[in-house]
Amino acid sequence: MDFKPIILITAPSGAGKTSITKYLLEAFPNLSFSISATTRQPRGSEQHGVDYYFLSAHDFQEKIAENAFLEWEMVYEGKYYGTLLSELDRMWNKGLVPLLDIDVKGAIHVQQKFPASTLSFFIEAPSLEALESRLRGRGTDSEENIQTRLNKAQYEMSFKQHFNHIIINDNLEEACKKTASLIDAFINKKLRK
Ligand code: 5GP
Repeated sequence: MDFKPIILITAPSGAGKTSITKYLLEAFPNLSFSISATTRQPRGSEQHGVDYYFLSAHDFQEKIAENAFLEWEMVYEGKYYGTLLSELDRMWNKGLVPLLDIDVKGAIHVQQKFPASTLSFFIEAPSLEALESRLRGRGTDSEENIQTRLNKAQYEMSFKQHFNHIIINDNLEEACKKTASLIDAFINKKLRK
């Protein structure tokens, strides 16, 4: 496709981004989740090539040297995450629209590179307390991990104005519908089932 659209979803972790992403992928058949590469360990039932491409630090560094990434960040201490250009090309070549679920810094970089073809959303939890209880409810993170994520969340909130739309996730269904209608308008109603 000539027009190479990118939908960006970013949020402090625990803000409900994953639920919104799932809803969008079901609502728009031509929207396709961009599988990132990461050096962190798989959690729970996560699978290589489905949730992430789980790479060793060595392999990740090699890909950086090959300029294989659209963007990459050390999202957490010593843990790298990045969007592979090959992943985006694979989707554009099939007429699919990539949906990127990436951290705030990475999202700002992508938006600066492709301002006209990117639609970006910052998903905000109603409060830091709500964020904390969601992180604990998830039951997959250690106490130390939760504190790291909360500190990072506070910092990331200060960048929310950089994005096209801020979605406050106090009601998941409404947040999903609002995001979907904005995507619908952006991609000219071509992708809705
Ligand atoms: P988690 O470890 O919880 O799966 O993800 C941690 C953070 O890394 C999330 O905010 C997620 O959006 C972000 N992330 C996932 N993939 C990428 C990526 O390719 N690039 C960047 N910059 N961040 C990513």
